[in-house]
Amino acid sequence: MEVTSLTDRIRQRISLQGPLTIADYMYICLLDPDHGYYATRDPLGTKGDFITAPEVSQMFGEVVGLALAQAWMDQGSPSPFTLAEAGPGRGTLMADLLRATRGVPGFHDAMRLVLIEASPTLRNIQADTLADYTPAWTTSFDDLPKRPLYFVANEFFDALPIRQFQRQGQGWAERVVTTDGDALTFALTTPLPLPELAHRLDDTADGDVVEVCPDAAPIAATLGQRIATHGGAALIIDYGDWRSKGDTFQAVQAHQPVSPLDAPGEADLTAHVDFEALALAATPAKPSAMTPQGVFLERLGITARAEALARRMSGDALQSHIAAHRRLTHPQEMGTLFKVLGLTPPDQPHLAGTTDPGRTTE
Ligand code: SAH
Repeated sequence: MEVTSLTDRIRQRISLQGPLTIADYMYICLLDPDHGYYATRDPLGTKGDFITAPEVSQMFGEVVGLALAQAWMDQGSPSPFTLAEAGPGRGTLMADLLRATRGVPGFHDAMRLVLIEASPTLRNIQADTLADYTPAWTTSFDDLPKRPLYFVANEFFDALPIRQFQRQGQGWAERVVTTDGDALTFALTTPLPLPELAHRLDDTADGDVVEVCPDAAPIAATLGQRIATHGGAALIIDYGDWRSKGDTFQAVQAHQPVSPLDAPGEADLTAHVDFEALALAATPAKPSAMTPQGVFLERLGITARAEALARRMSGDALQSHIAAHRRLTHPQEMGTLFKVLGLTPPDQPHLAGTTDPGRTTE
């Protein structure tokens, strides 16, 4: 039997139903059970398509773990509590977090580990990495138990499908995926006024593109609800900015940018995260200022940790350790592009490493 490629399937769907939104296209490319990018492979690392902060250095998961454990202690060490991660990739961040928190009295006994992961391939790798623990897996944030929740997500929200709208007069044309002969191509729908984008008429001009991530707000709302009602804290780390503006839909394959329509299912597809949308949806939980990753890690003492580790290293290992510290923190590497948003209950202090949004010195 001939195997239908993902491109064939997308073409077929367009011929039957008309153009796809970018979100529909992203869902198929990333999560199709047979050919989807995440569903079928481990994309991380030098041999894969991209490298993430936890894969750059163990220090990343360690300091994230200590920030969450500090919040847990500040809130009276509740037991039991949920320790959850969304999109854990290879499980590296969680493994580093768990190693770093071994010495926190009662933390491991009280925690119930939950991993939110859509990819069966990556679930298997996470099970190996975390073989000393007993995680439960789910695909739905609604499954998070109604008890204190300590949560982290690194490069998860950028993988959620987005829709794009281009301003035309007082209306918005949606950017969609259609066919031109055999090739996939972008097109624009007829512009319509959209009440949900009415507030963007104030800060956009004709031709500007704004992006909306339909799944992000409901997820942030669930996190905010759990944390405000039961206690806990969330750290959301990703590339993006405060309020979406411009086309940030991108594809990466073997560490190189490629066209998002060129190789469906073969390239990682992402878009920048709109942190304002997450912060607004998370109320009644209290969002922190959106903090650059480099500033966040420095405040949590990553440089002291790097020096302590460096004392036991020499030669190539030392050089790559120094490069890793720079890569995570330097403004020209991941330090500024990546941002951190903390969520805590309204009556609790902000997470270590983050500050009040009222402060403008971030
Ligand atoms: N956090 C990891 C991996 C980032 S890659 C790291 O920093 O290394 C994105 C992760 O999110 C992968 O584990 C991917 O399978 C998962 N993912 C993507 N879309 C998802 C969805 N809709 N639901 C659950 N997990 C998803």
